[in-house]
Amino acid sequence: MTYSVSPIGFVRSCFKEKFAIPRQPQLAPAARGVLELVAPFDQPEAIQGLEQVSHVWLLFVFHQALEDKPRLKVRPPRLGGNQSMGVFATRATHRPNGIGQSVVALEKIEPGKLWLSGIDLLDGTPVLDIKPYVPYADQVPGAFNHMAAAAPRLLPVSWSQPALEQAELHAQRLSEPLVALIEQCLAQDPRPAYQTPEPERRYGAKFWDLDVHWHYPTPAEIRILDVVLAND
Ligand code: SAM
Repeated sequence: MTYSVSPIGFVRSCFKEKFAIPRQPQLAPAARGVLELVAPFDQPEAIQGLEQVSHVWLLFVFHQALEDKPRLKVRPPRLGGNQSMGVFATRATHRPNGIGQSVVALEKIEPGKLWLSGIDLLDGTPVLDIKPYVPYADQVPGAFNHMAAAAPRLLPVSWSQPALEQAELHAQRLSEPLVALIEQCLAQDPRPAYQTPEPERRYGAKFWDLDVHWHYPTPAEIRILDVVLAND
């Protein structure tokens, strides 16, 4: 039996590529985006009452990780990428039906548009449904997950003076908390856990319309080198 679903909207996100997106929502509160609803859900009736809600669950499609053959085991980056686990024990993007879920903050709403923060979603992500967060039911006292017991360890992030000046200028132009966004995302250390960084290697990721470059002066610290307009 098959069921068909279709998007109720698409996310316009600060994240233009998968690299450097936090592994879960809420890890980078400055990660913002807009969920643009499509007809008929772009009408005021569809969001009536949502102004009473601080957070929503989004059910979405990992549209850039879809695969024909379902995997039973995956290698979560959190475990260093060298240990495999049952797909249903993880939040891996490669999964049957390619469905993701994230709880995100609702900053502002207007018909057809929901402004979100704390997102972990790629630009263009198709959203299948929105559900209000219900604190009494969604917070589970005593819950545990020994595999993902705590948020990832943060690395200290520092700026070169020119990079910080560039970021502040672009933040003004975009009206976005860009300095915080870059610091919060890079502090999670986007590099695959199995890779030991060489100090001279430059890493890069896209945020909004910008390319951000950094390096690891030591394996346990990040220094941002520049923040420049992306070519495309
Ligand atoms: N919170 C969600 C969940 O638990 O289902 C997503 C967790 S998943 C581990 C988070 C990663 O998904 C991000 O770091 C990003 O690289 C990737 N991602 C986000 N949006 C995506 C999309 N539309 N297609 C493919 N990968 C995506």
